[in-house]
Amino acid sequence: MSHANAAASPVIDALVAAFGADEVLAGDASPRHLKDWSGVAGGVPLAILRPRSTDELSRMVAICHAHGQRVVAQGGLTGLVGGAVPGEGEVVVSLERMNRIESIDVDSGTATVQAGAVLQAVQDACREAGALLAVDLGARGSCQLGGNVATNAGGNRVIRYGNTRESVLGLEVVLADGTVLSMMNRMAKNNAGMDLKHLFIGSEGVLGIVTRVVLRLQPLPRGTSTALVALQDYTAALRFLRHAQQSLSGQVSAFEIMWRDYLETAVEANRLRRPLAGDYPVYVLIDMHCGQPETDGERFEAMLEQAIEAGWILDAAIAQSVADTEAFWAIRDGIAEVLRDYAPTLNFDVSVPVADIGDCAARVRANLERDWPQLKALFFGHVGDGNLHVVVCRVPRDADSLHRIEDAVYSVVRKQGGSVSAEHGIGRLKRDWLHYSRSEAEIALMRTLKTALDPQGILNPGRMI
Ligand code: FAD
Repeated sequence: MSHANAAASPVIDALVAAFGADEVLAGDASPRHLKDWSGVAGGVPLAILRPRSTDELSRMVAICHAHGQRVVAQGGLTGLVGGAVPGEGEVVVSLERMNRIESIDVDSGTATVQAGAVLQAVQDACREAGALLAVDLGARGSCQLGGNVATNAGGNRVIRYGNTRESVLGLEVVLADGTVLSMMNRMAKNNAGMDLKHLFIGSEGVLGIVTRVVLRLQPLPRGTSTALVALQDYTAALRFLRHAQQSLSGQVSAFEIMWRDYLETAVEANRLRRPLAGDYPVYVLIDMHCGQPETDGERFEAMLEQAIEAGWILDAAIAQSVADTEAFWAIRDGIAEVLRDYAPTLNFDVSVPVADIGDCAARVRANLERDWPQLKALFFGHVGDGNLHVVVCRVPRDADSLHRIEDAVYSVVRKQGGSVSAEHGIGRLKRDWLHYSRSEAEIALMRTLKTALDPQGILNPGRMI
C-alpha cells in the first residue's frame, strides 16, 4: 500500500510525525475504502487511518481537529445511504483494526466489544458462550457493531428484541476534538442523570465516533420454528400476525413479508428452490425462538393449522431441519444478489404505521406503474415494525428521473405520516428528503446539537443534516 505524501499538507505532516508513515495511507491506496453499498460516488480522501485503539483514534482525531480537517468514520461499508463514502479531501478513520471482543459475561447478560468487531463474529462468540446477541441483519458478515450503533440498525429480529438501540447498554465515543467520552454502563437500569449514549445511537457519526460498545444479551433460544406462509393480501398478513402473536405469547421473532415479485426475483437471482409449489400474491416468513423446542414446535404447528382453517393463510411450508430454515431465510436474505443483478437500483426503506403498509405499498406501486411502467419494482419488509422496502430495478441514471422516482415513493409516505428512513439512516442519499419526516424544529435542534459537539463541523460533514 502507498503512504500519504507528508509534503502534501500540514495535517498529514502532523499525523506522520505522531504515528509514522506506515500508519497514514494515501487516499487512493485502498479502493475498497472509497465506496459502500449505496452506489453513491464520493471523492479521493486525503488519507486513510486505521487506528488500533481508542487512544490512537482519539489522538488522530485531535490532530485533525487542530487542523480543521474533515473526517469520515468507516465501519464495514455495508451502508445503503452513502454515509461512510469519503468526500474529496476528507480523512477516512476506519475502525477495521479495532475488532476485539473484549469480554462476554453471561451472568450479567453483557458483551463488551471494540466498535470495529464484525456483527457475525460477535453473534458467534455470544452463541458459543451460551447467549444471544439479538441484533441481526443480512449484512452480518461485514457490518460492524459501531456501524450498527451509528445507524441504529433494525433488521430481522426487531419485532421481538427491538432495534440496535435496545441492545446497547453502554458506549465509548470519541468527540470531534479527540475527547474520549466513556459511558460504558453495564446495567439495565441507570437513571443517574441523562442517558447520553442515546444521542450517539443513530446519529450516523455526525456527533462522535463510537469506539467501544457494551451490548445487552438475551437468553439463547433452544431452537427455532420457521415457516414460509402463502397469503392472499396484506390484510390477511396483518390478521395472521395478530393471531400468531396471541397464540405464541409474544415469541414471534421474525415476521417478514415478501410480495410475489420479490420472492420470484430473489429465488431466481440466488438459484434457490421454492418451498411452496403454488403461486401466491404474498408470502410471510415467520419464525419463533423456542425455549422448549418440542412443545413450542407443536404450538407453532397448531397456530398454523388454526390460521389455515380460519382462511387467513392459504398454504404453509414448515421447516423440518436447520437446512430448511436456512433455505427459507436465503430467500429473504437474498437481496444482495438482487441488487447486483438489477443494478443500478433505487432502494427505499420507509416506515408507516403497521396497519397502513398494505395501502402504502399499493399507492407506491400505482404511482410507479403510472409514470414508469417499464421499471420492475420489488416489495418486501418487516411487517411487525411497519417497515416497507421497495427496490426499483435498473433505474435511469439521470438526476431528474431519479428525483421523480423518489418523489413517487416519498410523497405517499409523507401523506401517511411515515418515515423516509426506517432503518438505513439518512447519510448523503436521503438528506434532501429529511424534511418529509422531520419538522423544521426537529431539524433545527439536530443542527444545534451538531454545532455544540462539533463547532468546526469536521465529523461526517454533509451527511444527515
Ligand atoms: P458503514 O456502512 O461503514 O457506515 C454507516 C454509517 O455509520 C456512516 O455514516 C458511517 O460514517 C457511520 N459509522 C460507521 N462506523 C461508525 C463508528 N464506529 N462511529 C460512528 N459512526 C460510524 N440495515 C438495517 O438496518 N437493517 C437491515 O436489515 C439491513 N440489511 C442489509 C442487507 C444488506 C445485504 C446490506 C448490504 C445492507 C443492509 N443494511 C441493513 C444496511 C447496513 O448493513 C446497516 O446500515 C449497518 O448498520 C451499517 O454498518 P457498517 O459497519 O457497514 O457501517
